[in-house]
Amino acid sequence: MARRVAIIGGGSSGLCAIKACLDEGLEPVCFERSRDIGGLWRFEEQPEEGRASIYRSVIINTSKEMMCFSDFPIPDDFPNYMHHSKIMEYFRMYARRFDLLRHIRFGTRVCRVSKRPDFAATGRWEVVTESEGKQESAVFDAVLVCTGHHTDAHLPLHAFPGIEKFKGRYLHSRDYKDPQDFKDKRVVVIGIGNSGSDLAVEISQTAKQVFLSTRRGAWILNRVGQQGYPIDIVFTTRLKALLKQLLTSSMASDFTERQLNMRFDHAHYGLKPKHRVFDQHPTVNDDLPNRIISGRVRVKPNVQEFTETSAIFEDGTREDIDAVIFATGYSFSFPFLEDYVKVVENQVSLYKYVFPVDLEKPTLAFIGYVQPLGAIMPISELQCRWATRVFKGLSTLPPRHDMEADIKHKKEEMAKYVASRRHTIQVDYIPYMDELACQLGVKPNLPLLFLTDPPLALEVLLGPCTPYQYRLRGPGAWRGARAAILTQRQRVVQPLQTRHVEENTSVSVLPLLRKLAVEQKTTLYFTTSLALLLVLQGW
Ligand code: FAD
Ligand code: NAP
Repeated sequence: MARRVAIIGGGSSGLCAIKACLDEGLEPVCFERSRDIGGLWRFEEQPEEGRASIYRSVIINTSKEMMCFSDFPIPDDFPNYMHHSKIMEYFRMYARRFDLLRHIRFGTRVCRVSKRPDFAATGRWEVVTESEGKQESAVFDAVLVCTGHHTDAHLPLHAFPGIEKFKGRYLHSRDYKDPQDFKDKRVVVIGIGNSGSDLAVEISQTAKQVFLSTRRGAWILNRVGQQGYPIDIVFTTRLKALLKQLLTSSMASDFTERQLNMRFDHAHYGLKPKHRVFDQHPTVNDDLPNRIISGRVRVKPNVQEFTETSAIFEDGTREDIDAVIFATGYSFSFPFLEDYVKVVENQVSLYKYVFPVDLEKPTLAFIGYVQPLGAIMPISELQCRWATRVFKGLSTLPPRHDMEADIKHKKEEMAKYVASRRHTIQVDYIPYMDELACQLGVKPNLPLLFLTDPPLALEVLLGPCTPYQYRLRGPGAWRGARAAILTQRQRVVQPLQTRHVEENTSVSVLPLLRKLAVEQKTTLYFTTSLALLLVLQGW
């Protein structure tokens, strides 16, 4: 009989968890407390208790080729950066394509997960659920926790003296839906993460004045990168990751900060932080400088104190205000788990952010509890592919002390980010994906690819490190992966071509042929050198 896996949560992580179980011949039962799939990405005016909440206008800041599931490219005509409604459309297509819905029990909340008395021998769990006021209990061979980490608002009121006296309205960004309520108001937004900057921009269209308060400033990235390509398509390449390894971190930061300052000088705009660009989770906002230069958003330091009607900032300035929005981030916890995993100040000890190290059997895994410099969906998917292989005993975890050493090392690495509760589960996209891929045996073998399939190898190295790269070989290999990689740039450009434009075709034949001949020689030389370099680098 197939082993049964309980999946808690039917958001994007839960969906790919169901698919990974099915691919491995396991029997998934997914419990979703709300009435539908999508988790955070399903916008509702008043989302159910215990589900993450987004605003009406939210547009994702990871582009479609970088955020898709690895064997299901997002349709050609979908925009690169999708509105939440389009993201839901994609998730529904995915669920339909792989027939996932019949494995989900909607309206069912998991309230307790505990070890069975025979756990040391069987690794089994008892899962207690509640649906329409009725509790049920069932036994599972393994559990995948997919409840997300952007549900519980972090509202640090204690850090803001006087807020209890403030007569205006205050709320967390989680409860913000649209700018209507702030028309003609003077509003302070606290925090310059992606929520704070999105909200400041949106509210400033109709508010009397918006103040964006930040205690340390931020480097602001654009969604639209060089030549109009999505920024993650431009930056997330294996070649750049390799160069970043070769350069000192200060050189890499100098180069990137110079580029960002070429768009607008962060010091002139009051945004320049003391820390370097790679030391903080990126804030991506194309519109913020426009709102600042037009005076609709004014950047301010941290709020020192609130009075009944105003905010006093740390530079001593005072502004009369009507409303405060705390865009101060999120906390996460696992209230349904007995003390198996402790979360303290958003820190959790999991091997590669997936497995607890102190269980007799590795039958509990956590999916999506990372904060990547990139999209979460492909990461969750690869974590699920690995976890299900571990559940089946096809992949084994190292001894406990090795796992603890890895956790310790990762905690030390985290110190490269500025100390903040938002930097506790931070991962770099390519290194982390490769790390997971090595566990599973699906990391692309670049030297071999250069020798056997140079056009593909070049795109894998120089092009964006899209999730399809992790379907080229090993368990779960997908026959469409090569074609998906070689056509990814077309899928980026296609949705933009909504009006026919004549391209410049007046290239004479002779120089073109000469150019092609030179390119061929260069490609051969380049390919061989790269294969050698990669072998030397141990790829
Ligand atoms: P969720 O989407 O939160 O889904 C968790 C599900 O679990 C929910 O459906 C919930 O109802 C269910 N659940 C919870 N507890 C229980 C229980 N006890 N029993 C049963 N069901 C339960 N990520 C990106 O990659 N790119 C982005 O651009 C991006 N933008 C974001 C924008 C905002 C405003 C926010 C807040 C986050 C953003 N994120 C982004 C991160 C986001 O968390 C992920 O994109 C994604 O939603 C994570 O999916 P998930 O399935 O892990 O969690
Ligand atoms: P976040 O990234 O955790 O940012 C929180 C902000 O609040 C930071 O600037 C932080 O400053 C500040 N802050 C926290 N506590 C504070 C305090 N006590 N005093 C002053 N400032 C404080 O949270 P978020 O912006 O809500 O983002 C959450 C996740 O959603 C991220 O993954 C983000 O990328 C994603 N997101 C994406 C989009 C999009 O795709 N369009 C939109 C919104 C959010 P410090 O840095 O100093 O701690």
